[in-house]
Amino acid sequence: MGKWRNTLGLVTAVSFALLAVANTGKAFGAASAQDEYEAKKRTIVTAYSGQSPEEWGEMVTGVKTSLATKEKVVALTFDACGSAKGKGVDMELVRFLDNEKIPATLFINARWIDANPNLFLELAGNPLFTIANHGLMHRPASVNGRSVYGINGTSDVGELVDEIELNARKIEKLTGKRPVYYRSGTAYYDEIAVRVSERLGHKVIGFSVLGDAGATYPADKVTAALLSSSPGSIVILHMNHPESGTGKGVMAAVPQLRKRGFRFVRLSDYPLE
Ligand SMILES: [Zn+2]
Repeated sequence: MGKWRNTLGLVTAVSFALLAVANTGKAFGAASAQDEYEAKKRTIVTAYSGQSPEEWGEMVTGVKTSLATKEKVVALTFDACGSAKGKGVDMELVRFLDNEKIPATLFINARWIDANPNLFLELAGNPLFTIANHGLMHRPASVNGRSVYGINGTSDVGELVDEIELNARKIEKLTGKRPVYYRSGTAYYDEIAVRVSERLGHKVIGFSVLGDAGATYPADKVTAALLSSSPGSIVILHMNHPESGTGKGVMAAVPQLRKRGFRFVRLSDYPLE
């Protein structure tokens, strides 16, 4: 009882403090969005700087790699990376998903949005598709600049916050909806970076099925990868390389997976693990 009363007291104190802040805002003019952003960034930099990561990879602590279910369901995820050669879109694949009523999560990088502004809004307006965060500059998520595939990770917590939060805000501004899922460029993380992502309100999404290996697989290999799915698999694929085998591989695998009793679901349909 005493503990409860203390909690109530704390809640009341916090409420008054917030009220005071709100009133100050009114009196002196609301702080600009930029000030608000910098303050948020400072708080997170203070909280996480100085921590040394021990893990580095695609499956580090905190990354969600599958749906927690034994049902025969698969979640398809497609990255749109936006590098110089990665600004395309596989419209045949997108139309296929739409026609077949297959829900999918689309991890979109800021540079891809800038290259395809109208298509981005069209995809975001389709209730089948969940728009997710694939970073501002497509950097591996690091708090100390580790690199992979020759791509430098974010060099510190501040850069990581920019990488995640600036694209989240860009997506929210364009669609009215803040993304809740984040996959870094290259899908590499250290475990502190995963915690920073969570602090920024994102669930960090990895994969259990490597669907197209960065859009390098020929179609038959993509199909074989998809057919290796088990209940609750999250499949990582790409939607930005129409010249690759990804689209054809997916289109060939879908009817076979359905014949085996699999359904296609959203990341939000099940708890993640
Ligand atoms: Zn990517």
